[in-house]
Amino acid sequence: MAVLPVLRYPDPRLSQPCAPAPLDAATRRLAADMLETMYAAPGRGLAAPQVGALLRLFVMDATWKEGRPDPQVVVNPRILWRSPETATAPEGCLSIPGPLTAITRPTTIDLEWTALDGTLHRNRLTGFSALCAQHEYDHLDGIVTLDHLSPAARAAAIAEMTE
Ligand code: ZN
Repeated sequence: MAVLPVLRYPDPRLSQPCAPAPLDAATRRLAADMLETMYAAPGRGLAAPQVGALLRLFVMDATWKEGRPDPQVVVNPRILWRSPETATAPEGCLSIPGPLTAITRPTTIDLEWTALDGTLHRNRLTGFSALCAQHEYDHLDGIVTLDHLSPAARAAAIAEMTE
């Protein structure tokens, strides 16, 4: 396994929609490297385009910082349902160092995805898991946190980005 370099906004690869990920050895290796990269960052989620692979794949672990590791590899996800209830919470992004961005999202989603062994999974996510999965899912469509902001708020956030 290897820790991969994480692309920084505004790298154009962060703004491109990703292609379906094949279930092959290269994808399994990429997922292992992404988990190692996420834990080293340290972060709770990482999407393939953030390491330059334009594939619909992300990894997340919502609880490892609380001492309960739960690594998830999510291949070719689909959001099947979004709750009408929303919540606004600050979000960080490994590709956008600096201040957190307050974003409003549904509090609960139904997520369907394929695991690395080819099995299909479907789960209802709530709380931080739902937030994290939606953040990473956005990356697969070329959307970053700043894209949720008004032009003025985005410009202010970019000005506050750290090196
Ligand atoms: Zn991100």
